[in-house]
Amino acid sequence: MTDGSRTSHDDGPSLDDHRATPTLGRVPPWLASTLNYCSRCGGELAFGPVEGEERERLACSSCGFIAYVNPRLVVTTIPVTPHGEVVLLRRGIEPGYGMWAQPGGFLEVDETVNEGAVRETLEETGLLVEPGEIIGLYSRPEAAIVVVAFEALVVGGAHRLNPEAIEIRAFRPEAIPWEGVAFMTSKWALRDWIHRHHPEVHPPGERG
Ligand SMILES: [Zn+2]
Repeated sequence: MTDGSRTSHDDGPSLDDHRATPTLGRVPPWLASTLNYCSRCGGELAFGPVEGEERERLACSSCGFIAYVNPRLVVTTIPVTPHGEVVLLRRGIEPGYGMWAQPGGFLEVDETVNEGAVRETLEETGLLVEPGEIIGLYSRPEAAIVVVAFEALVVGGAHRLNPEAIEIRAFRPEAIPWEGVAFMTSKWALRDWIHRHHPEVHPPGERG
């Protein structure tokens, strides 16, 4: 994850904002509150029926620009060492401060998903990885994100602490610290990786 405000992996920014927020169908309120004005002409946006659209949209009352609201992609990796251990980091920022997660962050507009996965993993762990198969793709509509998790082989680099990672550790599959994992999407990705590669290991809550 990259920085505080853009790191809302699962939870979205806090909702301490008491201004009236527009109701935009099922768009999360924290996101709706950022969608007041047209990005093209500065006019006011209004939510409602728009000709030619199958569902209600947010559109500019002055120029007609339609502000589509779509989720963003969070690119993450489950880095696996040559010894078969999974590298996780203990988060140095909110949300999830002090808890474990895999490296990842928002995909930038000028990179491919593989490039984003390699970049985020290097930034947050110091490790160079080669992304392989996709472990899973996880939707969190309440946070307006989709999280993709790649399995990624560690091919170089060395653990390097940074503001986003106060600890970096490699865990044997049976030693993953499930109770301390920060996000549902992290638990889902780790669980799916375990199911695929270590069916002998049973994450908590599953029958042995
Ligand atoms: Zn406009």
